[in-house]
Amino acid sequence: SDSHRAPRGRLGPRMVKGALFTYVKPEGTENPELLGISRTALRDIGLKEGVENTEEFKNVVAGNKLYWDNQTEEGIYPWAQCYGGWQFGSWAGQLGDGRAISLFEATNPSTTTRYEIQLKGAGRTPYSRFADGKAVLRSSIREFVVSEALNGLQIPTTRALALTLAPESTVRRERLEPGALVARFAESWLRIGTFDIIRARGDRKLVRTLANYVAENVYMGWGALPSALKDPSKPNLSAINPSRSVSSNKIEGTEGVEENRYTRLYREIVRRNAKTVAAWQAYAFTNGVLNTDNTSLLGLSLDFGPFAFLDNFDPSYTPNHDDHALRYSYKNQPSIIWWNLVRLGESLGELMGSGAKIDDETFVEKGVSEDSAPELIRRAETIIGKVGEEYKTVFLAEYTCLMRARLGLVSEEESDFQELFSELLDTLEALELDFNHFFRRLSHVKISEVESEEQRKQKASIFFHAEGITATSGVTESAARERMAAWLEQWAKRVREDWGEKDMEREKEMEKVNPKFIPRSWVLDEIIQRVEQEGERDVIKRVMAMAEHPFEEEWGGDREEEERWCGDVPRHGRMMQCSCSS
Ligand code: AMP
Ligand code: MG
Ligand code: MG
Repeated sequence: SDSHRAPRGRLGPRMVKGALFTYVKPEGTENPELLGISRTALRDIGLKEGVENTEEFKNVVAGNKLYWDNQTEEGIYPWAQCYGGWQFGSWAGQLGDGRAISLFEATNPSTTTRYEIQLKGAGRTPYSRFADGKAVLRSSIREFVVSEALNGLQIPTTRALALTLAPESTVRRERLEPGALVARFAESWLRIGTFDIIRARGDRKLVRTLANYVAENVYMGWGALPSALKDPSKPNLSAINPSRSVSSNKIEGTEGVEENRYTRLYREIVRRNAKTVAAWQAYAFTNGVLNTDNTSLLGLSLDFGPFAFLDNFDPSYTPNHDDHALRYSYKNQPSIIWWNLVRLGESLGELMGSGAKIDDETFVEKGVSEDSAPELIRRAETIIGKVGEEYKTVFLAEYTCLMRARLGLVSEEESDFQELFSELLDTLEALELDFNHFFRRLSHVKISEVESEEQRKQKASIFFHAEGITATSGVTESAARERMAAWLEQWAKRVREDWGEKDMEREKEMEKVNPKFIPRSWVLDEIIQRVEQEGERDVIKRVMAMAEHPFEEEWGGDREEEERWCGDVPRHGRMMQCSCSS
């Protein structure tokens, strides 16, 4: 909206109407120190290697250089987004980018992907409410590393380009801490909370405008739009861009309900989120704060506060120290994301329920003239219900596909789910074993090593912790060996069916999907400690090489350190929790 001009003077908390962002400048950073960059991110955004050594780059990612000219008032003025959110199941009202400021959008010329680049920890915005707009070094290191690690694992995520220390800025949390900025980017930072806020304001026109914007600009890319798309009653998104297509099949059970662009858009958002949460489950990633303001309209992993990867497989684990109800625990993630998507369905309900009948004028001036409200609601509910079934189907298909790959299987057997997946998860839980280590170690088990029962029992111990089976599990070591051996027998049988003599090839394939490196909480804590207390710097470069390429066997850094970070998790460092003050 043009009505939101660059603000002057001091910023206070502000309720925004009729718009979804506010122009606001970063505070800037005195004597910024560039602590780290992601090479993968540099490449993906279309920047040449070496650019990170320039003064210009350093000043852009520190919020010191803007592409806006005060004299001529030309260029790009930075902005902060307005959104609301359902937090822990309750409506929290207006939130917004309280400490993130978007600088500009840029398109990688070779991939034609467009990104919105923003700085987190850049200072106060009209959405800061009563907080300081800053980010501490420790949470910035965590976000910087995990963004690129998720991307390395091929899990859809917002990205991190650079980490900057603000040496002159101390931030008060539980204690005084060094401040930092993360330069990050995404194809879009829009989230379910963006719709939540305009629905709460009752701004039906803006809901429609935003839905059109998301369909045309976010999902379809920048570029010129075919005229078909400009008429909201006709377009078929899948006809335009097959690579990002929404399924063109109508969902079953919605006969008699016109499937318009808003339903297609909703379905695509739902499907993307289903796939992302499936990947979180398959790699045991927990976000920790899955509020609607942290659920992306593109299905990206978004907002890394008290996140963690599971160490031992414990489905009830939450990394969020304050989440006493375990709402955002590992096992709840698929249903919570669906809960959030229902909130989105409600925001889009009027548009979806109206079928092909509405044009802008009728909609805005008169409401949906021909349909009674109860009829509209009934249709919207039907659609949301059916899309919910689609969500489950897509989630399960994606999860199964990832788990199958992680176990080195190619063919699909119906019994795999029960006999291999469920039995494995139960075993890992009962024996308190490490989830991601299990898969990497399994990759290197040769079929010839698990032919006999004796061999299998022998092999079982490679999955145990260094100290053996822990006393808390109440399982004896020999019972543990037996149980694992039984599972290995089933697994080896399936691998033989799928691969015959080609065991080496299977091992190679498994390595490609089973990471050696996972940025676990204890590793991140060690790095934070070393950077903050010991003043180390190179350690960031080394961990980023590992995060960006988690499937490698070695990274050419400090070999002992690499093995330690990829090895057994020290007992005190397992399943740590994090408070939200970041
Ligand atoms: P989160 O829990 O990270 O999703 O944050 C919820 C809201 O609080 C968002 O609107 C953030 O922008 C805002 N917020 C969190 N920390 C700060 C801070 N230090 N300064 C300003 N706003 C903040
Ligand atoms: Mg957030
Ligand atoms: Mg956050």
